[in-house]
Amino acid sequence: GHVNPIGERSCYDEGKRVAEGLCMDYHRQNMVDIRIVRIFNTYGPRMNPQDGRVLSNFVVQALEGQPITLYGTGQQTRSFCYVDDLIDGMIRMMDQDASIGPINLGNPVEIAMRELAERVLRATGSRSTIVERPLPKDDPRRRQPDIGLAKKVLGWEPRVPLEEGLAKTIQFFRELLGK
Ligand code: UDP
Repeated sequence: GHVNPIGERSCYDEGKRVAEGLCMDYHRQNMVDIRIVRIFNTYGPRMNPQDGRVLSNFVVQALEGQPITLYGTGQQTRSFCYVDDLIDGMIRMMDQDASIGPINLGNPVEIAMRELAERVLRATGSRSTIVERPLPKDDPRRRQPDIGLAKKVLGWEPRVPLEEGLAKTIQFFRELLGK
């Protein structure tokens, strides 16, 4: 895709690429039994509150009454997959021999970050304000997985809507933070 190979977050992108390449080499040279999945934005209970990902940041900030830190104008989109759906996809992948991948696993429903902030505020009943912060370098404007292959090969697609997953995640953070 359109990724910068030498930017601030390149070690992450390139690390994933090299991991896929090495797995394929081990598979071809040494017959290692592998599966390659490409995990898109995933969330749910048991995230680390300090993780820094958008969903945990917004929920923690909303529950603590701190300002919601929206990077840029919040027009950029992501697609969030609930952890149980993701794990189900990974297990299905490991349980079959038709494809070793790479295969995309993620939720194709796209949402803008400003809309996510507003939904977190509504779902928590928080009175936090939304503040804009500088957009990190190389922040993709849009990310949405094409899960056609996962549907075809694994009969898999996400089942948990954001509303339901968000409610469970908020509940987890309420207990964790005592809020
Ligand atoms: N983001 C945000 N506020 C935050 C953390 C992240 O607005 O406190 C934005 C970030 O700029 C990006 C999106 O939310 O556009 C998703 O960021 P995250 O780090 O969760 O995942 P990734 O960038 O890897 O998709």
